[in-house]
Amino acid sequence: MFTNETIKELNIKRNVLLNPGPSTTTDTVKMAQIVPDICPREKEFAGLMKGLREDLVKIVHGDPEKYTSVLFCGSGTLNLDVCLNSLLPAGKKVLVVNNGAYSTRAVEICQYYGLDHIDLRFPVDQRPDLALVEQTLRENHDIAMVYTTHNETGTGILNPIREIGALAHRFGAIFVVDTTSTYAMRPIHIEEDNIDFCMASAQKGLMAFTGLSFVVGNRAIIEASKDYPKRSYYCNLYLQYDYFERTGEMHFTPPVQTIYATIQALKEYWAEGEQAKWARHTRVFEAIHQGLDELGFRDVIKREEQAGLVVSAVYPDDPNWDFEKIHDYCYERGFTIYPGKISTRNSFRLCALGAIDEQDVRDFFVVFRQALERCHVSVPVIYSDEK
Ligand SMILES: *Cc1c(COP(=O)(O)O)cnc(C)c1O
Repeated sequence: MFTNETIKELNIKRNVLLNPGPSTTTDTVKMAQIVPDICPREKEFAGLMKGLREDLVKIVHGDPEKYTSVLFCGSGTLNLDVCLNSLLPAGKKVLVVNNGAYSTRAVEICQYYGLDHIDLRFPVDQRPDLALVEQTLRENHDIAMVYTTHNETGTGILNPIREIGALAHRFGAIFVVDTTSTYAMRPIHIEEDNIDFCMASAQKGLMAFTGLSFVVGNRAIIEASKDYPKRSYYCNLYLQYDYFERTGEMHFTPPVQTIYATIQALKEYWAEGEQAKWARHTRVFEAIHQGLDELGFRDVIKREEQAGLVVSAVYPDDPNWDFEKIHDYCYERGFTIYPGKISTRNSFRLCALGAIDEQDVRDFFVVFRQALERCHVSVPVIYSDEK
């Protein structure tokens, strides 16, 4: 719709979002939302969604015969709800491999629906113990679904999904993974990673907007789920899939403008390329670490266990440290930082999502250091157990 020159002239303020999504978008993606009004029941619109659904499978290297994607209107949590309530046969159990806030959210969904489940908890700063996962599967023959989170966004820990998926399959269970904070960033190969269902939303790795969420998964399992107990109407996977297959449309009103923006974001995704995009996120991640290291901050998660997208740093033991004040100082200068999501330890997060590069992170650290100085926080920062 708009030429690059016109978009440039608009001079839209650029904010660097270092929060874990929504992420910084390009101006071309922002402007792709401005389109002539269209009724989404028109053939022209259905045509757009077909290509979009195919692209979403392609991003995780799925064979289009075997895997499909199903779109929903809502934020990312909707996907967790959809998979958990739709893919559990009667009389069966879910095993949630839980080492963080997002898997805990899945447990809460099980509780709300009254789904039989095992909440297999591990410390938030450690990877799950695979021997315990295996033992649980061995002792509970009624587990039909194993569920976990790829990158626990609350801490940034990377979970060994390929290994957990292999265990699930060995014991005849399906494997569902919340990949919301890795999809379209850290490369995923749905089949090799032993994933039956993964999920994401347009506002994270794809660098578009909130309102479009999607499940990518095994078509045959979706078809088998036709006869599973119906626990939700709006959030039933089979119902939405079947409607798409028959009509090419979403069952209920789609997020029209978000879909236009996502299609533009996908064009930009393919133009940048999977490897180059991951290399860029990695550069940003390393620049974040370098900046934090120079200031003396400590990581919550061991460096080698981080997913390469979210850095959680421990609050220093400095009476002048005031996250809110530091946040506000940075925010006023175009940089957004985010609190942590660990109940036992005070932390904050800096994330490598979005249309940003290492120079943005360097610019951020100039401002962040000023914020620390303004607040009279000692630099390098201090921790009380320091010798
Ligand atoms: C962002 C995110 C979600 C979705 O959160 P919403 O606020 O509902 O969009 C789900 N899982 C993970 C791992 C996430 O990072």
